[in-house]
Amino acid sequence: MGAVLLKERENQVHVKGEKPFNLVCNKDSLAGAVSQRACVFCGSRVVLYPIADALHLVHGPIGCAVYTWDIRGALSSGPELHRLSFSTDLQEMDVIFGGEKKLRRALLELIARHSPKAAFVYSTCIVGIIGDDLEAVCKDVAAETGIPVIPVQSEGFKGNKRAGYQAACDAMFRLIGTGDTAGISKFSLNILGDFNLAGEIWMVREYYERMGIQVVANITGDGRIADICRAHGAALNVVQCSGSTMQLAKMMEEKYGTPAIRVSYFGIEDMSEALYDIARFFKKKYPDDPETDRIMERTKALVQEKVRDLVPKLEPYRKALAGKKAAIYVGGSFKAFSLVKAFRLIDMQVVMVGSQTGTEEDYRELEAITDPGTVIVDDANPLELNSFLKEKGVDVFVGGVKERPIAYKLGIGFCDHNHERKEALAGFEGMLNFAKEVYSSVMSPVWRFVPRKAA
Ligand code: SF4
Repeated sequence: MGAVLLKERENQVHVKGEKPFNLVCNKDSLAGAVSQRACVFCGSRVVLYPIADALHLVHGPIGCAVYTWDIRGALSSGPELHRLSFSTDLQEMDVIFGGEKKLRRALLELIARHSPKAAFVYSTCIVGIIGDDLEAVCKDVAAETGIPVIPVQSEGFKGNKRAGYQAACDAMFRLIGTGDTAGISKFSLNILGDFNLAGEIWMVREYYERMGIQVVANITGDGRIADICRAHGAALNVVQCSGSTMQLAKMMEEKYGTPAIRVSYFGIEDMSEALYDIARFFKKKYPDDPETDRIMERTKALVQEKVRDLVPKLEPYRKALAGKKAAIYVGGSFKAFSLVKAFRLIDMQVVMVGSQTGTEEDYRELEAITDPGTVIVDDANPLELNSFLKEKGVDVFVGGVKERPIAYKLGIGFCDHNHERKEALAGFEGMLNFAKEVYSSVMSPVWRFVPRKAA
């Protein structure tokens, strides 16, 4: 490990049990370290992209738009405007003379052609450098077209990916509070931080409907502008990917008094706990309302039915995978907590875990739930990951598109748990898919022909 770890990175890696926990995180990536992290602009794109009836226009060179084109496997039950990639394609002359006129023309043409419910305009590095006034152009076009046109201040260089999440939350916060809240039940919630990868939000919505709870807005998987505009009418914000949308929940709590709870939909334990937490929230809020008892009863029945069905189906995978080793490197660390528990459920051992955007609180929690000797890493790079995987003798690596080649080159199984995936891994049904996918990759006969590279 020491051989590949740059001196300046040493305090962003911790091995549980070796010394007292003191991991440094949430700082800009080290120049030259080739971080696995995406830029600020990409951070805002991944959050806003699934809003399906909005126009998403990238103001910048074409490369920024290509980099984030169709960036998630986020499905829509209706419009699919989000899947198109629009860019102002800034050229040398625009950089010299400014790109505002081009942006205005692009917005007017695209809004006329696609009739979106709103438009998001993303700022990129070069726009931050030349200083185009996005706010003014958006205001002008909004007045002319009659739809919200919202600047997303996501210049790529202005921080790390978390700053992009903040820019996305700021953009959505402009919409919230502008819609009509008539007809919203007192037993209602918004789903924050689920991006409907492979249709996961539909599964979760179905659980809530079975509990008797109304879902007001999906933020942002299969999202709609009108729902986001009335999201302030919901009784509760349920936040899954806390790194990306907790800030929005905090802003809503401050302005509209909407309380928030943090949940995870991955693994049996966390999925069940999420549903019970919500049922308990309404019981506490309306202790004398008999409907809250009915919500709790329906929740218990739902969880029991799902767990009874799932546990025997997991058993063959648990037997086959028991004792195998796993490594996790994901965008947000909250997902990593659930993955550690999900691996435990199938008797696998997590030996390395890291994230791009974890906070100190997140890493402390990871330290608490992992086994001694586990490597915990913030903002890693390919060289470090490569070294940890070999050193720990990992059988399966869980990550995203940038981690996949690292695993395959080492002859290690891989499970895609990031935003490009096409397999639903959330919810009770997702836990079975997860076990199947890990099993298929670890046990694949292909590894007979691609020997694992040892440390
Ligand atoms: S915004 Fe900047 S860092 Fe991000 S993709 Fe564009 S040029 Fe690259």
